[in-house]
This record gives sequence, structure tokens and C-alpha cells, in this order.
Amino acid sequence: MATDGHKRLVIPGPVEVRREILEAQTEWMIGHRTPEFADLFARLQAKLKQVFLTQYRVIVSGSSGTGLWEGASRNCIRDDRRVLHLVGGAFSERWAEISKANGKQVDVIEVEWGRAHTPEMVADALQKQRYDAVCAVHNETSTGVTNPIQDIGAVVSQYDETLFLIDSVSGLLGVELRPDDWHVDVVLTSSQKAFALPPGLSFCSVSDRVLERAKQIPYRGYYFDFLELDELLKKNNTPATPPVSLMFAADKQLDDVLAEGLSNRWARHLQMRDMTINWAQMRNFGLYAQEGYRSPTVTTVANTRNMDVSGMAKFMAQRGWGMDQGYGKIKGKTFRIAHMGDMQPAELEEVLSGIDEFLGQ
Ligand SMILES: *Cc1c(COP(=O)(O)O)cnc(C)c1O
Repeated sequence: MATDGHKRLVIPGPVEVRREILEAQTEWMIGHRTPEFADLFARLQAKLKQVFLTQYRVIVSGSSGTGLWEGASRNCIRDDRRVLHLVGGAFSERWAEISKANGKQVDVIEVEWGRAHTPEMVADALQKQRYDAVCAVHNETSTGVTNPIQDIGAVVSQYDETLFLIDSVSGLLGVELRPDDWHVDVVLTSSQKAFALPPGLSFCSVSDRVLERAKQIPYRGYYFDFLELDELLKKNNTPATPPVSLMFAADKQLDDVLAEGLSNRWARHLQMRDMTINWAQMRNFGLYAQEGYRSPTVTTVANTRNMDVSGMAKFMAQRGWGMDQGYGKIKGKTFRIAHMGDMQPAELEEVLSGIDEFLGQ
């Protein structure tokens, strides 16, 4: 594989994918109605349940995470009931839009970008209105905020009819998340962020409560129908043709994740978060995310020094790094340093000293 001109990605998705993982995709193709595929799918399922920390099932979808947003909304929210979306950044905003686009009746609790949602806010809303589901983003990639899912889950669990649905696209595998213990019914994630795989695959854990709910919803669509996906999953198969090459890569990546160990992986991310926060503070940059809720996988640096962010990105590109320049409405006023996926502290050290060189010129 040529490495000429390759920039190692420090953006919060897609993230850098290790060469061994890329190479795992070059296995010979197999038909997906064969025993070989059933073996692959069964292996994946066993490992996915281990890393999702769930006794239930993990659906594997040949789509990006956006598809599973649609799936979660369609399978969990009845048409004559309401859903509560916790909104505080670009991704949580978009999921709420997707629920609306699917005809669902949406209420939102909106916090300022950079702030977290609190269990009290959710308790307040649930006292006033019945909801079929509460939807939250675990790790808001646009702002670098990690929401207190465990505490919010404790509130939601007091309402039998309310499902708790979590987007952990940039969290799962990098940030502690225990769906079964924390009363989370759906955790969805994409391959290309904290999972450190190429894009094109997504995963979601689905509790039995969700399947019971789905049975009460006549029009769940087809591609993301959780009941159909679960039926086929029991036979180690998928309703439509799956992205087999990506699954070979996932099979290898999950072995490596389990060999590292989930708690070691969480600790590595926390260490890199603290390195990045210290670096930013020592250089008189601000931190965009509220203290106490700063993400282990991505730090949003407030550009209080008025650094030329695009100049920094060009400088870093010449040194072989692909840098972020901020997201959406906070582009330039902030920039994000992703310490996500398989990045190691030593690499982050190189990234930070590269930015130092730029600042010192
Ligand atoms: C990137 C991202 C998404 C969108 O996922 P796709 O895989 O691009 O569809 C959703 N939520 C969060 C938090 C993200 O970071």
C-alpha cells in the first residue's frame, strides 16, 4: 500500500485506520448465504455483545450511523405519541430533524453548544409529558461534550413506557458506556469514528423492550426494520447484501479491541484528553466544552489566541497530519483535536508539538 502523500487523520471522523485493518478488507469475497458468512457473522455478534456490554443483540447495518438514527426513531416511537430529543450540538440537532422527517412528534430540550444536559432537565420534562422515547447523543462530536448518560438513564428508567436511545458514534469503545446497567435501550454507532474502521458500517444494540415496541408500530420501513434484522440475525444473516469486506475488517478490529481491554481503552482516551486539555491551557487557549463534561475522544479548543486555524492546518498537512478546523457555526472560533480510535499518546504528543512549532514561527 502506498503511503506517499498520506496524512494521518486527527479529525473526529473518519479517523485514521491502521494498515492491518485496511488489509483485512482484501480477503477473498464470500457469498453472504454461505456457511462461511454465517461463521463470520456469528463471530462478529459474539464480540459485538462483549464490547457493547449487552446481553441483548447488536444489529449490524450496511449504512452509516445516520441510517440507524432513522431506524431507532422509526422502530421506537409510535405515531400518536411524542419523543424527547436532547439537543446541544450539530449531531443531536440532526437526529431531532430525522425524527421529524419520519413524521414523529418531537419535543426538544435545547442547551447552548458546549453545555451538557442534566438529569434534572430530563426529570422535569418527563413529569410534564409522556414520551415514547428520550433520544440523546452520548458524545457530541461537534462540541466535545460527553453527556451524563448513566444519570439520565436513571431518570428515564422510572418511566416504563419511555425508551432511552443513545447515539454513541464518537463514544463507544472510547468512553465508558454500559447500556444494560444504565437503562439504555438502543446504542448506535458508526464504524469510522471511535471504532477506527473505514466508513460504511454501523452497529446498534437493541433491548427486548425495543422489539416489543416495534411490534406496535405498523410502518417501520424495510431497510432499518429492527424486527426483520433481528429475525435474520438469529440465523447469522442479514436481510440485504452486507458489506462483507468491512465485516472482515471489523472482525479483526474487535479482536484487537478485546485484546487491549475495554477499560484500558477508556483509560487511554482519558489520558489523551488530559494531555490535550493541559496543552491547551498551558498555551492560553480556552476549552469550548463545559468543565466536568469534556470528551475523552475529542477536545474542542476555543481559539482564544486567534490563531490562523487554516494556516495551522496547512502547516500540519505538510508534516503529514490531517487536522480539523472546527465544525459548522463554530468553525475557526474553535478547532477540534480528535484523540479517537486507535491513536496512541505518543502520536498525540507529536501532533501537539507540531502545533507548537506552528505557534512559535
Ligand atoms: C458523525 C456522527 C454522526 C453521523 O454518523 P454517520 O456515520 O456520518 O452517518 C452521528 N452522530 C455523531 C455524534 C457523529 O459524530
